[in-house]
Amino acid sequence: MPRGKRTVYSMTCSTASCGRRVGTLRLHRQDKKGKSWKEHKRVKYCPGCRKKTAMKVKEEKHSN
Ligand SMILES: [Zn+2]
Repeated sequence: MPRGKRTVYSMTCSTASCGRRVGTLRLHRQDKKGKSWKEHKRVKYCPGCRKKTAMKVKEEKHSN
């Protein structure tokens, strides 16, 4: 069984006036239940907005 390739996603604040990059997320494209990350809601504290905001999750290229 091949090892699942991990993908790095960057999380960016979805507030238009902010757009701060809050963090990154490493995960497999699908979790064990077969749900894609797109179905997960990512809400995180944004230091720019000083509150929890919805994150835009975008795939990021990386190399090992
Ligand atoms: Zn923000």
